[in-house]
Order: sequence, then C-alpha cells, then structure tokens
Amino acid sequence: MIFYSSVESLFDTKLKTEYMLELRPSCENCNKLLPPESNNARICSYECTFCGDCVDHILKGVCPNCGGDFVIRPIRPAKCLIIDPASKTVIYKPLRS
Ligand SMILES: [Zn+2]
Ligand SMILES: [Zn+2]
Repeated sequence: MIFYSSVESLFDTKLKTEYMLELRPSCENCNKLLPPESNNARICSYECTFCGDCVDHILKGVCPNCGGDFVIRPIRPAKCLIIDPASKTVIYKPLRS
C-alpha cells in the first residue's frame, strides 16, 4: 500500500495512472448511477462494478464476468478527483436469467 503525502506528489509518480481504480460511473447490471462518493458501489478484482443491491440479491456476491468476489469500492477523496477524475465510460451488460 502506498500513501501519498500530498496531492502534488501524485504528479510525480507513474504509479498514478497505472494503478488507479477506474471508478466506473454505473452498475453494469442495472445501470444505477454510482458516483465516486457512493458507498453503494462494489468492485471485483478486475474492477467490474455493480451496485450493492445487485451484488447482494442478484449476483449473490459472485462476479458474473470473472467469478470472483466483491469488495466495497473505496471512495476517492474529492481533492484527488480533481486530478484523477472518475471514469465516464458506462459499461452496461445486464444479466439475462
Ligand atoms: Zn445494480
Ligand atoms: Zn469481475
């Protein structure tokens, strides 16, 4: 785990873009908006992004893309979002049951 001492130090390191979470804007299954400050967002190790409702009730905690489990997506502080904004790329692949 790497801790940055200041926002400015983010500019200095190449780690920034290589290891940054994508913070996708919405749930892949139901397209519910999941803004960066949402505590309802869940991600798998590949950053497949779903809302908590879909993960708990539809996916049953298993990612439909990779079979992995989910964690609560960390919230990126607002000062960091200025430098590293959330992704605007919507991925919408609703499950067919
Ligand atoms: Zn959802
Ligand atoms: Zn996945």
